[in-house]
Amino acid sequence: MHIKEVIAALEAWAPPVMQEDYDNSGLQVGDPASDVGSALICLDCTEAVVDEAVAKGCGLIIAHHPVIFRGLKSLTGRNDVERTLLKAVRSGIAIYAIHTNLDNVLDGVNGEIAARLGLSDLRVLDPKPGQLRKLSVFVPNSHADALRSALFAAGAGKAGLYDECSFNVEGQGTFRGGEGTNAFVGEKGKRHAESETRIEVIYHAPLEGFILSAMKDAHPYEEVAYDLIPLLNRHQGIGSGAVGELPDPVDEVGFLALVKGVFGAQVVRHTALRGRPVKRVAVCGGSGAFLIGKALAAGADAYITSDVKYHEFFQAEGRMVIADIGHFESERFTMDLIQRRLAGIFPTFAVRLTDTVTNPIHVS
Ligand SMILES: [Zn+2]
Repeated sequence: MHIKEVIAALEAWAPPVMQEDYDNSGLQVGDPASDVGSALICLDCTEAVVDEAVAKGCGLIIAHHPVIFRGLKSLTGRNDVERTLLKAVRSGIAIYAIHTNLDNVLDGVNGEIAARLGLSDLRVLDPKPGQLRKLSVFVPNSHADALRSALFAAGAGKAGLYDECSFNVEGQGTFRGGEGTNAFVGEKGKRHAESETRIEVIYHAPLEGFILSAMKDAHPYEEVAYDLIPLLNRHQGIGSGAVGELPDPVDEVGFLALVKGVFGAQVVRHTALRGRPVKRVAVCGGSGAFLIGKALAAGADAYITSDVKYHEFFQAEGRMVIADIGHFESERFTMDLIQRRLAGIFPTFAVRLTDTVTNPIHVS
């Protein structure tokens, strides 16, 4: 298996363009064209994880957190990051990071947390702007159906649980072919009027290349007339955090016990209990204090996240229980999630979970 095949599978799920601006997801070390027999999944790629990959013969490490995060000005081995990278390069081991792009898809980090808690009716807590565009394309009526089918097959026209969504209006287009043209209809040098359909479809911006190429293949004209329009509408399936419902209301003490058990958290730091049951739960794996306001606005009874600071706990204002379960604990099942995903796509490719505990935080 080529490393780039594994990367293509991961990026079809969580495209790198969906990562946050500050992030550095993607292939960090290694040649995408090289062969790899197995992969090792971890949250943090440390020197010990590279040692483990060497021992287990895994040529690719897939980490949630990027080992190269803020850039490097030298590579001398003076800290763990540099030693990790040097060892990976010397050992011929590739390192790939799938970080905030996996946070920003609903079937990613937060979907997994929600599934572990048994939440249903899941939606994104803070849908990300700039993900949706609209294509308007003009096509002779005779080819409208074939073009619509091609656009849908390339991924256009999806809205929530609906697909094949389009708007169509018929009108008359005109054109005149100049020297060197070979028009589908009409006579060179004479204005031609053709009954055409304007097809409008929305699509997720990263799919634009596929969609335009499918459009041009299915369209009979030499020059296809079309408009690409950025939308202010937000894609409801892409963005930070998630919110869903427990099957039945649970009292707050029982809910915190459930969370501790599910995520193996020795300690949960939380705000005062309100004396009301928990039904709606917001979640954000990793550092999620930035979504406290969104969780409150969504009417969450509890918000499961990590890295919450003293002053940020005050923002619950008695309306919601903020529970900081630990960064590692909140993301630990991300490893299983990546493993399951790859195993489903490549049944014969070995994908192993690290045995190295990389959580730097210990509790006494
Ligand atoms: Zn994290």
